[in-house]
Amino acid sequence: MKAKFRPVRLIVQALSFASINALLFRALSLEIGPFPVPLPILANPGKPSIFPGALETTEALLSKAEAPLAALAMAFILGALLGRAFCGWVCPFGFLQDVLRFLSKAKRKIAPRDHSFLSKLKYLILLSLLSLSASLALSYGFGWGGAYRAALGPLASGPFSAISPVGAGPREILRGIFAAASEGRLGEWATSLPRTTLISLALLTIAVYGGLKVSRLWCRYLCPTGALMALFGRVSFLGIGRRPARCDRCASCEAACPMQVPILSLPWQRFNHPECIACLECSDACPNGAIGMRFS
Ligand code: SF4
Ligand code: SF4
Repeated sequence: MKAKFRPVRLIVQALSFASINALLFRALSLEIGPFPVPLPILANPGKPSIFPGALETTEALLSKAEAPLAALAMAFILGALLGRAFCGWVCPFGFLQDVLRFLSKAKRKIAPRDHSFLSKLKYLILLSLLSLSASLALSYGFGWGGAYRAALGPLASGPFSAISPVGAGPREILRGIFAAASEGRLGEWATSLPRTTLISLALLTIAVYGGLKVSRLWCRYLCPTGALMALFGRVSFLGIGRRPARCDRCASCEAACPMQVPILSLPWQRFNHPECIACLECSDACPNGAIGMRFS
């Protein structure tokens, strides 16, 4: 069957990737501009971008005891309108996960009970990260912000930014590996890496290797930004629905869903599911044209 939405989505994702990483701006010789627009995506926290991640911006501002109003407002408005659609259409790391999936044809399903348990991990990660940042912001009010900041070390400016899988700088790491290998001091180089870089590399490895086995493993189970947007998933205007007159319950939609949404057990007319990223792979897979986007 011919996919209608996938090619469009891939083009949008590629353009987003290039814009968020400033590649498009450089190619068109445009200025990045002084006013960043935080988006609910996973973007490299170490690179200047007109579209930084909303979570990374939030924690960076909290670390200076500043209110992250614009970042939270963007997450709230976009979440209420579109749920996790930014995960499916805009996030560069989501794009990477999709590319891995298309390359490997990752199809492995996780047992429903394990899937349900693992899906909650990302909320725990989000809660821990925000608690740490908020506690630092509050500590300034009690007068021991400086000491607490020092104790947190590299986590102080943003715990997630410090260990984000997109922050490790694979290019610098590869350069370091080649340089150290050519001088025969690879072991020494590896042990000299900061712990946050090692965690970041470990997370990147999990996301890439896991993404080759299970579609969007990082987005399903580990991403704190995904968790933040999933909180809006149930109440967003954008949903997915099936037409009972056309649907013969063949389950092609469920089999195609990269987020393992249990489509057939959800309401017919319209459902909002926290894991749904509005990718429309289900719609592309349906032989009867029975499933698609619904707005309320
Ligand atoms: S879950 Fe995270 S990494 Fe995945 S698409 Fe959403 S923001 Fe990006
Ligand atoms: S339910 Fe459909 S739109 Fe939602 S994540 Fe699954 S395939 Fe994508």
